[in-house]
Amino acid sequence: MQKTIDIGDILVLKKQHPCGANKWKVIRTGADVKLQCMGCDRIVMIDRPTLYKRIKRIMSEDE
Ligand SMILES: [Zn+2]
Repeated sequence: MQKTIDIGDILVLKKQHPCGANKWKVIRTGADVKLQCMGCDRIVMIDRPTLYKRIKRIMSEDE
C-alpha cells in the first residue's frame, strides 16, 4: 500500500502518546518526519519506515 504524507496531514497512529492523544499533525517531511502531538503539542521526529509502520490512518487537514 502506497502512503503519502504531506505537511498539514493528521496522522492517527496505532500507539497513543502518554498524554492520551493518538493524532499527530505533520509539520515537516523529509527523510525524517516531524510530528506535533494534537493533545500536548509536543514535537517528535520519526524516520519514515518506522512512521509508516505506526500509521493507522491518514486524515487530510480539513477532515
Ligand atoms: Zn501528546
